[in-house]
This record gives sequence, C-alpha cells and structure tokens, in this order.
Amino acid sequence: RAKEYGKNGCQFYRAEMNDTVIQKLVMEEWLNKAIELEEFVLYYQPQVDIFTGKMNGMEALLRWKHPRLGFISPGEFIPLAEETGQIIPIGEWVLREACRQNKAWQEAGYAPLKMAVNISPIQFHQHNFVQIVLNALEESGLDAQYLELEITEGIAMYHVDQVIEKLRTLRAHGLHISMDDFGTGFSSLSYLKKFPITKLKIAQQFVRDIPEDPDDAAIVQAIMAMALSLKLNVIAEGVETDAQLSFLLDIKCREIQGYIFSRPVPPSDFEALLKQNED
Ligand code: C2E
Ligand code: MG
Ligand code: MG
Ligand code: MG
Repeated sequence: RAKEYGKNGCQFYRAEMNDTVIQKLVMEEWLNKAIELEEFVLYYQPQVDIFTGKMNGMEALLRWKHPRLGFISPGEFIPLAEETGQIIPIGEWVLREACRQNKAWQEAGYAPLKMAVNISPIQFHQHNFVQIVLNALEESGLDAQYLELEITEGIAMYHVDQVIEKLRTLRAHGLHISMDDFGTGFSSLSYLKKFPITKLKIAQQFVRDIPEDPDDAAIVQAIMAMALSLKLNVIAEGVETDAQLSFLLDIKCREIQGYIFSRPVPPSDFEALLKQNED
C-alpha cells in the first residue's frame, strides 16, 4: 500500500511521526524534572458573586515556566502528563501548593475563600487519592470547607462505584465538588443524580455566544433550571462581555468566572484582588 503513495510520501509520513515521538520524549524528560526545578507555578482566577460583586472563591490554574521555552500552557502538557502518568506527582504538587497558599492568605487576615483545584480523572482513579487530598489539608492546616475539587464528566468512564464512594468520603470530610466543563462530556444527566457534587460549571463553549446564539442561550437556561431543581450551585466559565454578564444576571446565574473580572494571575497580583475584595 505504501507504494501507492510513492517514496516521498512515505518518508514524509515517517519524518512527521518521528518528530512527534521525539518531541514527546523530550517533553516527558523535562516534565520529570519540572517539580524539583520548581518550574511550576499556580495562577489564580477569581470566582465572583455577581449579585454582590464580591469574590467568593478562586480557581488554581497550573503554569509551567520552562527556562528555554518560556511559558507552556496546561493545554499543551497536561494531556501528555496524563498519558505518561506524570499527572500524579504534578497533581499532588498542585493540591499541596493550592492548600498552602489558601491557608497563607487566611493567616494574613483575608476573609476565607474557597480554592478550586482541577483534578484529572487519572489522578482521581488512584487508589489512595482521598488520602492524598486529606494529607494536603492536614499538612497545610486548611479547613476542608475551603477546598473544592473540580472533576470532569470523563471521570465516569471507569469504576463508577468507586468514584461515587470516593466522592462521598470527600463530601463527608466537608470538601466541595464541582463538575467542570459541564455539558461537554457525555452521560452527564444520569451521573448528576448519582454523584454527590455541589456545583456545576457551565462550560465556556456555551457561554461564548450568549445571548446572540439562541441554542446556547437555551442550553444555559436549561442547565440553570436543572441545577435549581437538583439543588446544585452554578458558575458560568469564560465570561468576557457585558452582554454575557447581563444575560446571566437575568437568568439568575449568580456566580461567574472570566476575563471580564480578571484573568488568572500570579499570587502577588491575586493578593491585590483580595485586598480590593475587603472594601
Ligand atoms: P478549566 O479548568 O476549564 O479552566 C478554565 C480555562 O479557561 C483556563 O485556561 C482559564 O485561563 C481560561 N479562562 C478563564 N476565563 C476565561 C475567559 O474569560 N475567556 C477565555 N477565553 N478563557 C478563559 P488554562 O489556565 O489554560 O487551563 C486550561 C485547562 O487545563 C483547564 O481548563 C484544566 O482543564 C486544565 N488545567 C489547568 N490547571 C490544571 C491542574 O492543575 N490540574 C489539571 N489536572 N488540569 C489543569
Ligand atoms: Mg477548572
Ligand atoms: Mg472549565
Ligand atoms: Mg477543563
């Protein structure tokens, strides 16, 4: 079959493939060292109650500052880290650092806020995941009510009974659980009933074109109605414009996250936002 494409076509294909393989290997090597070289940092993005204008939480978002490549976004290295299993130590570092930082802000005298941390399905499915979370809380001294885990619908692909069991244990310890990128996965409706979650995050993809796009507007309204009857909190992600904001206000979506309020920022800039929030 290769003959059909001719010699060059075949070589071209191979060169491309090698490139990707080598890139991946190199990236994997770098990722291995990134924790000890302290190349990871957490940025924080406010989660805002639009009825009061006050921040009531924040999301920790991972950033990798590579000395030669510069800033690498999570979209580029998290899929690889999931494939290689490196997401496990990286995710543990994120949990510990987010808890430490949140506690440090509380001890500095700022009103306590919830810290949301993204959890990869690979990480969640680890047998000792609950213990890792509890250790991060204990080590930092952070109260469990100030930690929220953001899971995705992908978590429901395997071991559903174990997932439910872990979520129940985490809830029993007082943690909050939110469903990130809600509506972009599958099986969401049946799992919503089974999973003891506390909040839905309306995916950015549905927020982007509201209020103009009638389908997206209808989807967002349907999610609001469903959340109300299931007694779940809701937050809209990726809010950028005044028009999106007033639509969300109209349908009583109380919490938002997005560039309209602030981009994710490094800890020092976030502290300035915390100061403002006290006024
Ligand atoms: P996510 O959890 O859904 O996070 C929201 C993403 O939307 C973030 O991208 C954030 O910077 C971006 N965003 C927030 N507001 C706006 C807005 O108004 N407009 C636009 N266009 N974008 C906005 P980021 O930081 O690049 O993270 C991408 C994804 O990487 C995250 O999506 C999450 O799935 C994953 N991720 C980030 N940090 C971690 C982590 O510590 N652990 C794991 N497992 N995944 C992470
Ligand atoms: Mg998230
Ligand atoms: Mg999201
Ligand atoms: Mg996501």
